[in-house]
Amino acid sequence: MPELRQNPATREWVIIATERAKRPEELGTGVINMPANAKEHCPFCPGNEKMTPKELFSYRTYGTAANSPGWWVRVIPNMFAALLPQGTPNRVQIEGLYNCMNGVGEHEVLIESPEHSQSIATMPQKQVEELFLAYRERYIALSQDPRFEMITIFKNHGLAAGTSLHHPHSQIIATPITPNHIRHRIEEAMRYFDDHGSCVYCDMIEKEKKIGERVVAETENFIVFEPFASISPFETVVLPKNHASTFDSIPAERCKELAYVMRMTLVKLFRSLNNPDYNFVIFSSPCHERSLEYYHWYIMILPRVTAVAGF
Ligand SMILES: [Zn+2]
Ligand SMILES: [Zn+2]
Repeated sequence: MPELRQNPATREWVIIATERAKRPEELGTGVINMPANAKEHCPFCPGNEKMTPKELFSYRTYGTAANSPGWWVRVIPNMFAALLPQGTPNRVQIEGLYNCMNGVGEHEVLIESPEHSQSIATMPQKQVEELFLAYRERYIALSQDPRFEMITIFKNHGLAAGTSLHHPHSQIIATPITPNHIRHRIEEAMRYFDDHGSCVYCDMIEKEKKIGERVVAETENFIVFEPFASISPFETVVLPKNHASTFDSIPAERCKELAYVMRMTLVKLFRSLNNPDYNFVIFSSPCHERSLEYYHWYIMILPRVTAVAGF
């Protein structure tokens, strides 16, 4: 059973999950250009559904059975889960100093397409729409479980971004705690609200629109820009223009527009940086802190174009 442990000096919770050491290293072994028969061995390819745990959710052709081909988006439990869904979170202090908790949570893999060699930048628009609708459905389902405080949706694309399998997939993790870096963002946004009486993200959107220099794209409901203080080259953020603190606040219909904006942004990165490795994360407020006036959900895309320096 995985375990959550808190560092009392930083208040950061870490997941101790030894099972994850057994996960496949398809890319780590240098097999980036898949051999011709790769699809036979790929657990995410149609026809190989038996190689994965039973699906939790899928969009599939009417009349096809679960755990068989006919799907276009498929969600399964992560085979090497960092957290497990059984039990209730139970926090204890040990050795008179250290907080720890049993590793209760949900760790899902969302297989983005039946096509082995696609990525969001090369998928048809319709497929990306289905993907974002699936993100939204899983977010809503998991956020209703009272054991979970935080639902994080993220994607690792390419070896430098931490992928271990080539087939396009994203991950969803539901945790019983709020990670420190999220808590820090929320606290800083609250401080800004105290000082200025407005949401810092709404203020950045207004400012970036006025200046225009860093705006990549803008649609009726979303804006894409390069942050003034990017943490690495080509860091890109996608924000809803209307203030909302949780990802599931967007209606299903607006998921299509978000999918369009995300696909367009990833196509621009794909073309200009030659299919870079990247991570993206959907940052949302904790499930039990909905409708915060000072926090604004958004997506951060981080291309891995430079090696991480020591400083
Ligand atoms: Zn595959
Ligand atoms: Zn806002």
